[in-house]
Amino acid sequence: MEPSRVENFLQFVNVKKTYDQKTLVVKNFNLDVKQGEFVTLLGPSGSGKTTVLMMLAGFENVTSGTITVGGKSITTTAPYKRNIGMVFQNYALFPHMTVAENLAYPLKVRNLPKTQIRERVDRYLALIELGHFGDRHPGQLSGGQRQRVALARALIFEPTLVLMDEPLGALDKKLREQMQFEITRLHSQLGFTVIYVTHDQVEALTMSSRIAVFNEGVVQQYASPDDLYERPANAFVANFIGENNLIPALAPEIDGKMARSSLEGGARITTFNGNCLVGAQRCIVSVRPEKLTIQTDARTLDNQVGARFITRHYVGDFIRYYFELDNGCKVAVKTLNDTRAPDLANGQSAVLAWRAEDSFAFRSDTNPVQGDTP
Ligand code: ADP
Ligand code: MG
Repeated sequence: MEPSRVENFLQFVNVKKTYDQKTLVVKNFNLDVKQGEFVTLLGPSGSGKTTVLMMLAGFENVTSGTITVGGKSITTTAPYKRNIGMVFQNYALFPHMTVAENLAYPLKVRNLPKTQIRERVDRYLALIELGHFGDRHPGQLSGGQRQRVALARALIFEPTLVLMDEPLGALDKKLREQMQFEITRLHSQLGFTVIYVTHDQVEALTMSSRIAVFNEGVVQQYASPDDLYERPANAFVANFIGENNLIPALAPEIDGKMARSSLEGGARITTFNGNCLVGAQRCIVSVRPEKLTIQTDARTLDNQVGARFITRHYVGDFIRYYFELDNGCKVAVKTLNDTRAPDLANGQSAVLAWRAEDSFAFRSDTNPVQGDTP
């Protein structure tokens, strides 16, 4: 029988962190994680992701706020009593121990009986498909194999919560993709809860059940991968997740869910309203390169903007065109490499068109951030 799932198994409530008593590197962090979820903290370098993990693991104290697991505060619990598994980029396997001894170590310190340790080590070696490597030393393994051992060592004592801080950062692209697959396989097989940290958005989108997009110590949006991609909450998320054209526009008029604005030079544009406020003077219109079409025939789409072709990059499966709009803004258009990909001469005029619901109007000032006030 499946164990009953605790709603909000892990909770951060108003967590703040300063290292120097002056600046908050984590401004006001709130996050709910369900049992068994794979949650990723995604954000640029220096945005406070590792600090959040360190507070959760107990290696850094919380300046203020509470962290609860299973409804109980762990804010002042000693790290070793939190029973959290951890994997980091610089996996520190013990070099003088064999693979099997490395895996046995967390069980030994927890005083499991010898027979049980042997059984569990064999089972986890098989799970990471290194069944015949138990007697080797870490120095005799490839980088990917070592990282699989580090992963197994973090899981072998069956923690309910596992933290991973850029665990694949040191691996090359192909190995990284294999390990992404491996981690998600183990996650769905074993059912532990993961808090994963990365600055790689493709990795976050492929692996996570939910992603918290972090910037400047504040969560900008916490949502499923497709929600983040299809419905970004603000201009930062729109720009950070995937590729987006961000086009400055004027005088957004908000009409229910939609916003109408003008590009400099006159073109009127209809979009979803992202987070524009009534009466704003300007906004940013975001539309993804794959949502723009280069118009040659009937003009049936909601938005049409005059543009001048600059150049195109041949990528293989698709072609990326660069245009300059009449308002001077440069935009990219992505088109599948098929019969629809037009041939254009440098400087040639064209019309770029898109559907209103494939675009958003966002506030152009800095994002309204929760927790900006002390
Ligand atoms: P990320 O993991 O997103 O790159 P970090 O949590 O490592 O971000 O860092 C957030 C900010 O806190 C950075 O400005 C960093 O310089 C600072 N910082 C991190 N760890 C410490 C520390 N131990 N002492 C002082 N400042 C720190
Ligand atoms: Mg970090």
